[in-house]
Amino acid sequence: MVERTLSIIKPDATARNLTGEILKMIEEAGLKIVALKKIKLTKEQAEGFYQVHKDKPFFDSLTDFMTSGPVVVSVLEGENAIEKYRKLMGATNPAKAEEGTIRKKFALDIEKNSVHGSDSKENAEIEINYFFNKLEIVG
Ligand code: ADP
Ligand code: MG
Repeated sequence: MVERTLSIIKPDATARNLTGEILKMIEEAGLKIVALKKIKLTKEQAEGFYQVHKDKPFFDSLTDFMTSGPVVVSVLEGENAIEKYRKLMGATNPAKAEEGTIRKKFALDIEKNSVHGSDSKENAEIEINYFFNKLEIVG
């Protein structure tokens, strides 16, 4: 099934000029970039995006990190895009990520782990709508 998912290249990765390399890995995995922009989140926007984690001990640190520099948000489209991109990203903790994954290659630690990807169809739709309107997505 053709799906769409939301990707974020996080501030640790944009700061190290890894945007191009990560987008290359995404395209080489067969995912199509149907929307793309670089933005700098406010604390409020980061908190809104990560509402599901508001009660976690790392919430304040995570939302500080996500506002520490620019992020590159994109919508990826393809067969099983949600699961495909989660696999390409690798485990949340890079110490547990498989060889060949983005996080294994680039992540600094469990927080500064270079990329975000939606974890379900429902969340993908919510997250895509958080950052993009219809006119910004070119199917
Ligand atoms: P994922 O991004 O793999 O879906 P989660 O949804 O569990 O992971 O967490 C969201 C983000 O919060 C992670 O990508 C990471 O940046 C940060 N995070 C998760 N767990 C921790 C932790 N134990 N300590 C610090 N930051 C964390
Ligand atoms: Mg998650």
